[in-house]
Amino acid sequence: MTYNKKSVEDVSVAGRKVLVRCDFNVPLKDGVITDENRITGALPTIEYLRKNGAKIILCSHLGRPKGEFNMKYSLAPVAKRLSERLGTEVPLAADVIGPDAQAKAAALKDGDVMLIENVRFHSEEEKNDPAFAKALADLAGEGGLFVNDAFGTAHRAHASTAGVADYLPAVCGYLIQKEISIMGKALEDPARPFVAILGGAKVSDKIGVINNLIEKVDTLIIGGAMAYTFFRALGNTTGSSLCEEDKLDMALDLMAKARAKGVSFLLPVDNVIGREYKEDTTFMRIYSDSIPDGWMGLDIGEKTQELYAKTIIGAGTVVWNGPMGVSEWENFASGTRAVAKAVAESGAVSIIGGGDSAAAVEQLGFADKMTHISTGGGASLEFLEGLELPGIACLEDKE
Ligand code: AMP
Repeated sequence: MTYNKKSVEDVSVAGRKVLVRCDFNVPLKDGVITDENRITGALPTIEYLRKNGAKIILCSHLGRPKGEFNMKYSLAPVAKRLSERLGTEVPLAADVIGPDAQAKAAALKDGDVMLIENVRFHSEEEKNDPAFAKALADLAGEGGLFVNDAFGTAHRAHASTAGVADYLPAVCGYLIQKEISIMGKALEDPARPFVAILGGAKVSDKIGVINNLIEKVDTLIIGGAMAYTFFRALGNTTGSSLCEEDKLDMALDLMAKARAKGVSFLLPVDNVIGREYKEDTTFMRIYSDSIPDGWMGLDIGEKTQELYAKTIIGAGTVVWNGPMGVSEWENFASGTRAVAKAVAESGAVSIIGGGDSAAAVEQLGFADKMTHISTGGGASLEFLEGLELPGIACLEDKE
């Protein structure tokens, strides 16, 4: 799926009311934002709109308030932090589409910024209810514009991510533009060799991605628990490793497809195994691709790390989603660390899907060595799967 969508730079914004869907779903602890990457990520679009004289109405979801006003999920901490970061007061409406939001939107002057409350305070948001979408669009009103800059929810057809585009002209912000241009290029015209690294818990979560990437990559590297489903499909023992018994045929089909396409399909050749699924479990390395009874595979071994690193270092493009082992636990983090290091050193165009792999890269201090760390785990997976993302499909195409 390639997108050639209009961005904020392709339309006039001066004097217009612009409803901007951001991803302000930040982690909070006792009302304090513990990681403000998402706020930082939203600033370029907001600053562009301010500089160009738009009247800016920001909206986002935060957490899962289940369709009710619940101040635990209020965007108040975001409004406060945004005010500090932008150096201008960003008032927060007490409601989403109610009288306060309407009054504050009506009072906006050119360059002003406001935030409405959590769109998920209304159950109509996730149902993509047309009346709710229209009420959101009406905040921008006649002559208004919708800007979607929330890549993390672009795979959801919700009122504030897609529905509003039925009532307002719609373009993307810088964040979405960057996501679709870098990932789009990797899928359509990658620097080769193109290597995809897939890890994580389940093959079943990533069948679509593997299927789509087999059509495009030169090498597919498999790690994480999903490797054990492939092991079992090949007739190896897997002990008590996480293994999807009902996906063995599919695993064989995927490997056959890779063979038919000339894609090299790499599985671990050695493993770190533990007695139990516990952080402090007894563990050891085994120089085998079979896991003995009473043990479970929890990370890739050193030989595999070397083999994978060598392949990654020679790549032109790398796409990575999912850890190589239980990287949350130090004893089983070295595979993920080795892969992160290799990607950082590869000099390849490197794209990190969100979630655990992005967290690992950041935690290890490699973030600035990557070409792109996606801001949406689920959305980037669906993008790599070749699926249409409703929050992007609804935007206007460039002529
Ligand atoms: P995913 O969300 O599918 O990318 O999976 C990430 C999760 O997979 C992380 O929480 C890891 O701890 C887990 N994981 C990776 N390797 C293994 C493994 N060998 N056994 C159990 N869980 C694993």
